[in-house]
Amino acid sequence: MKPGKVYLVGAGPGDPELMTLKAKRLLFESDVVLFDRLLSPEILSGLNGKELIDVGKSASHHKLTQDEINVLLVKKAKEGKMVVRLKGGDPYLFGRGGEEALVLLAEGIPVEVVPGVTSAIAAPELAGIPVTHRGITSSLTIVTGHEEPGKDSPLDWSAIAKLGGTLVVLMGVTRLDKNVGALISGGKSPDTPAAIVEKGGWPEQRLITGTLGNIVQKAKDANVEPPAILVVGEVVNLAGKLAQKDQKTQKAQNAGRKLAILRLDAQAAESSRLARESGFDPVCAPAIALEKKPLPIDILSRVDASDCVVFTSANGVDIASKNPSLLRSLKSKKIVSIGPKTKVALEKLGLSSSTPKEYSSTGLEKMLSGKKCRVIFLRSAQGSRYLADDLRKAGTEVDDVPLYEVKASGDKRLDNLILTAGEIDIFAFTSSSTARFLVERAREMGQEGLLRDALERAQVAVIGLPTATELKRLGIRVDVMPEKFTFESMLQALRSTQ
Ligand code: SAH
Repeated sequence: MKPGKVYLVGAGPGDPELMTLKAKRLLFESDVVLFDRLLSPEILSGLNGKELIDVGKSASHHKLTQDEINVLLVKKAKEGKMVVRLKGGDPYLFGRGGEEALVLLAEGIPVEVVPGVTSAIAAPELAGIPVTHRGITSSLTIVTGHEEPGKDSPLDWSAIAKLGGTLVVLMGVTRLDKNVGALISGGKSPDTPAAIVEKGGWPEQRLITGTLGNIVQKAKDANVEPPAILVVGEVVNLAGKLAQKDQKTQKAQNAGRKLAILRLDAQAAESSRLARESGFDPVCAPAIALEKKPLPIDILSRVDASDCVVFTSANGVDIASKNPSLLRSLKSKKIVSIGPKTKVALEKLGLSSSTPKEYSSTGLEKMLSGKKCRVIFLRSAQGSRYLADDLRKAGTEVDDVPLYEVKASGDKRLDNLILTAGEIDIFAFTSSSTARFLVERAREMGQEGLLRDALERAQVAVIGLPTATELKRLGIRVDVMPEKFTFESMLQALRSTQ
């Protein structure tokens, strides 16, 4: 069999938006992804169905050795698979990427390296420290603070101490005191500015500044944990001016709060980016999936017979737009969209629509009141019946076409979320179906009690009234509901409860 190919891909320092476009594309095209523990799970969102192997955590919970990883890479490639070997930061900077490439090439397996944003530069930068700065320093030295025991050429710290410029030490948390001690005894002044950037680019990023003389104690007091970077040099003083304080304080408030996102996989990436921007730690676990329904054969004449077409979701718009004749006939119709996302989806197709002020049947009724018109709904099969019924009562002729059905996702991430529900700080419900299928799945797994306990302890946020009503029906307390029916507003509402 022709061997597949292995891509050694840099994933950047942890924020999924700091991945390259090429890395993102390759992840979607790959058959197998081998990744390390450091990577945020969000980087792997949307990859359902692929073989995702955590080489930082094997079945017995110990890390795979480098040899075991090499063997696995060779094996998967020889099966003809397209393999992405995803690494934190850049694959060739203390990432053992070069070693893996050599092993693969020796086996006749094609390899391509894809550079990534390295934490050595990005972590200080995101904390307000440029590694070079005109007039302050024009050189940068990057070293490891964790030399492998038994290595032939241990670092010469006294030589490093004599270098000017900026020094960045990676993998140095556990040996911080020894490394700093070696720099001082090598002749570097204890007054040299020094900083530690912990989890650069992550919601819980922290910056600790001081001097070589006191940074060890300060790191100990702050309980610094890996991954973290030590930066030594005058550039550290710029952090006072360049650190993005507002954003950081806001982020710090939410830092580390795990927020469960249960919506469709296709929408999860954007929601998770928004959550991350607000400082939350998003956990994507789709509870639902969509199943398209065949369009009724008389759909065009039914649309033609109506005065007004109502879309209640961007999903509905998306599905309708895939049928060219339907799309054409929509161009000449009066369209109503429920919710801003639906409106935007229509705008993208060049269709303008009016949106009722309230995203509900009453809003729609008010909007159509007094007008004798025939309405056709193009929406989910499970769409609330009340909407159509209320309109009928008010004398409107209503046709209802189900475009898709919402069903259980069958996603492994949901099962995982249910089993670890106790770790979730906030459950974000974006529709009544997400709530229903979450509870249903927990019940199937025999874990409903565990889930309910977790919901009891956590904060529960809903996007709007119909979702709140469904939660009430399920016996789940609701803590937060935004005024506006969007994910962004829900995050904002959560922030203001801090
Ligand atoms: N190839 C990676 C580095 C791998 S070595 C890169 O280019 O970034 C692992 C070390 O990188 C960690 O011990 C830590 O020192 C540093 N590191 C990785 N991600 C980091 C982050 N987000 N913030 C601070 N340091 C980080």
